[in-house]
Amino acid sequence: MIYLDNAATTKPNQDVLDTYVKVNQSLYSNANSPHQAGLQADQLLQQTKKQIKDLFNLDGKFDIVFTSGATESNNMALKGVAYKKKAFANEIITSVLEHPSVLEVVRSLETEGFIIKYVDVTEDGQIDLDHLKTLMSDDVAIVTCMHVNNIMGQTQPIEEAANIVHQYPKAHFHVDAVQAIGKVPLCFEGVDTLSLSGHKFHGLKGQGILFVRNIHQLEPIIHGGGQEYGVRSGTVNLPMNIAIVKAMKAAVNHTTELNHTLNEFNADLRQFLTGFHGVKLNSPQNSAPHILNVGLSGVKGEVLVNAFSKHNIMLSTTSACSSKKASLNEVLLAMNVPRKQIEGSIRISMGANTTQEDIQTFKENFYKVYEEVRELLV
Ligand code: PMP
Repeated sequence: MIYLDNAATTKPNQDVLDTYVKVNQSLYSNANSPHQAGLQADQLLQQTKKQIKDLFNLDGKFDIVFTSGATESNNMALKGVAYKKKAFANEIITSVLEHPSVLEVVRSLETEGFIIKYVDVTEDGQIDLDHLKTLMSDDVAIVTCMHVNNIMGQTQPIEEAANIVHQYPKAHFHVDAVQAIGKVPLCFEGVDTLSLSGHKFHGLKGQGILFVRNIHQLEPIIHGGGQEYGVRSGTVNLPMNIAIVKAMKAAVNHTTELNHTLNEFNADLRQFLTGFHGVKLNSPQNSAPHILNVGLSGVKGEVLVNAFSKHNIMLSTTSACSSKKASLNEVLLAMNVPRKQIEGSIRISMGANTTQEDIQTFKENFYKVYEEVRELLV
């Protein structure tokens, strides 16, 4: 199969799988147990966190909380900070670009009395920084902004947004960097919390990370035995956490290289696709290189995904998390993509395992699918 759905999930690296199995066999003790094996497990847990922080030169600046995925990390950060700040700041600023694991959290907080404000989106899919400035006040508890969008791939001005947010000392800046790691350099400047998901960079599903600048800013949303600084109770998954370092090192240390390769594939695909009547590129020009969103007006995205799937090419409509929802995608709507083009959108997403041959095979099959749907195009 030609796998071009890496924004939905990636294939785990072999050394990640091997490490996971090996640590489960040799170091299965509970990191909270007081005996020798427990102490050893805890020591390894702390070393693992240090290795992750060292990768980004963050030692002394952030704590790391291991979670079950970015969905949990986003919930933990947004709810945790919101509850902590509720008494003195109750506004949350977000945008429709965010993943449901952010948007649905803030919408749920809205039902609990928080005021949600949406920052405008520019035509190239970035948050409007001038609008953000006008929304900021001393009542803002949280501003949340993703690093790279999961549907179109556009990157966001994280550092500039952080500078605006931090003119208001009470405001907390949260970043969902799930689609950024390994593809573009991560920005921690001015960031208070940052979420990652292991399976998006060749780690395992069910593995999340939350970087927290000040752990005391989080009210726990999961209660229990007090693990992970008391903010994420539950026995830590040491084998998983040790394994993720392998994937993270590979992703971070090869970001420049992969960015370059995927940019070449992306440019090649853009050039190829613009040669077809009725095919429009939805992703802005300077997006992250691994995601290319394309619209074929007149055909349904699902029909295209099925047609490619029959040719053994796996890609998706918008995102795996929203592809089953009937409504038009809010991200594409916010970027003024015409309705028919949104309905006929597909997302091609590449990763570290994507090869030139994959791109070539995709192109050969694109001709076939195009012929199959040609008469439907408007
Ligand atoms: N944020 C973004 C931008 C994502 O793409 C995803 C995964 N689709 C998530 C958060 C949630 O990650 P997970 O499903 O691993 O919890």
